Amino acid sequence: MILLPENYWEIRNTKNKGRGLFAIKDIPKGIVIGDYIGKIIHPLEAIIDEENFYLMYYHDHAVISPDLEKPGVYLLNHSCIPNAFLYIYKGHTLAFALRQISKGEELTIPYLLSPKDKFCDPCPHICRCENLKCSGTMHLSKEKYDKWRKFGDTRARETKRERIRYGKELPLLTSYPKKISEDYIGEIKRIFNFNSMDQKL
Ligand SMILES: [Zn+2]
Ligand SMILES: [Zn+2]
Repeated sequence: MILLPENYWEIRNTKNKGRGLFAIKDIPKGIVIGDYIGKIIHPLEAIIDEENFYLMYYHDHAVISPDLEKPGVYLLNHSCIPNAFLYIYKGHTLAFALRQISKGEELTIPYLLSPKDKFCDPCPHICRCENLKCSGTMHLSKEKYDKWRKFGDTRARETKRERIRYGKELPLLTSYPKKISEDYIGEIKRIFNFNSMDQKL
């Protein structure tokens, strides 16, 4: 579910990453872009093939499978130096602008995959973000992954998760934050070493 008004974005084909979401108007820093909504299924029910990056974990025993016919946060492609990020709120995963996103830019988030292990071989999670600092992979280093998990778990405890039912759509929240705080943005930049240079790219 894209929460930004429709005059801010459009779906376009990218060069090498399939469809993507693009800004057609400047998006201010901190603004909530969308909520990752879809059908709640058990991870064992989810057929995860190499091309399928669309699933988002709700918790360890539930994943969200979005309706690919409707625009949604799943359209945001991965980047090592993203201009958007994830905000954990009442169990939901919201995407928000990490910095001001200029008209014409593609909106990107990091996929925050756990460190590469022996099960991911051959690994299909190759990054094609073309940033100078591209790590070449969507997998996080163990250090960043552990820091993010710790941060995310604390956030999850602070904002209560609502009860969900398998096979049902994750319901929209009754209200959303308008703007993500500078504190949260600062924490993210610290964990992932995004510096002010990156933010101007
Ligand atoms: Zn992989
Ligand atoms: Zn990259």
